[in-house]
Amino acid sequence: MDKLAIVVPCYNEEEMLLISSEALRGELDNLIQKNKISKDSFILFVDDGSKDKTWELIASEHEKYSNVYGLKLAGNVGHQYALTAGLLTAMQCSDVTISIDADLQDDIGVFEEMLDKYYAGCDIVYGVRNKRKTDTFFKRTTAQAFYKLMSSMGVKTVYNHADFRLMSQRAVKHFSEFKESNLFLRGMIPLIGYKTDSVYYERKERVAGESKYPLKKMLALAIEGITSFSVKPISLITVMGGIIIFGSFCAFIYALISYFFGVVEPGWTSLMISIWFIGGVQLLSIGLIGQYIGKIYVEVKHRPRYNIETFLGEESGN
Ligand code: UDP
Ligand code: MG
Repeated sequence: MDKLAIVVPCYNEEEMLLISSEALRGELDNLIQKNKISKDSFILFVDDGSKDKTWELIASEHEKYSNVYGLKLAGNVGHQYALTAGLLTAMQCSDVTISIDADLQDDIGVFEEMLDKYYAGCDIVYGVRNKRKTDTFFKRTTAQAFYKLMSSMGVKTVYNHADFRLMSQRAVKHFSEFKESNLFLRGMIPLIGYKTDSVYYERKERVAGESKYPLKKMLALAIEGITSFSVKPISLITVMGGIIIFGSFCAFIYALISYFFGVVEPGWTSLMISIWFIGGVQLLSIGLIGQYIGKIYVEVKHRPRYNIETFLGEESGN
């Protein structure tokens, strides 16, 4: 049986914390009883620089229950960073992690199914919501537009999966080799490789408190996702430059025709042609420079280039 760590990022979750802790402890006991995880499995609450009583509550839970751990970050760094801090800490003392939000919108009832898939050989199991009934119409449509936009930009993400997932220790270890500072986990995890699977659940309403992801943070996350994973926007500029240069030839012909057959102000023809042409050349040049910057960007991220899963070689030690 493997040791499970449940990683829970929390930001101003004082209304939720005790409810969450109780529910998660209950599920841990349940899984221990079913012999799915070892007895020393634990919950790790990560306090992302909360301004309310979140940390005091985590500390008091830790006092009371030996399987509740706490990690306090010195300031509010954001969900993705808090989750990463939790995963990398948990990795050192567990075999497998499950990350889940503090608001229990994700179904803790599927932990068991996730673990079954883990024991069957999956290193990453994604929690995927199959219905979004409880989200507001606005949240649902913007989120779905976001997934579509991401995939059109060539970023591989799992549709309708947020950050509710199981990761084996070796998957987290490989993830820790991604040294980039701009984190967008949903894009990074699929790059790890290994065998993956999904479990499906219905997303519930937040039990208490309100969303810590207002529109501003959601947009920031979307832009982060695109700019950290795709240099397509730069290619779009280059393509647009090309199109405008082509347009300038059409403008050139149109201007010449007007010059010979119509009534035009003196100087209009040459102005028209040069504005279009120079505009196109400038955009194309910016796009080309952008392509190099895009390459530099990819290089400086120093992502691992591959992940070796198995090596069959000479037997050592005999
Ligand atoms: N969260 C965090 N840091 C932040 C914002 C949010 O750690 O700066 C946590 C929050 O406590 C919750 C999770 O990230 O556990 C997801 O946030 P929330 O449920 O508010 O997002 P929503 O479900 O509305 O998208
Ligand atoms: Mg939530």
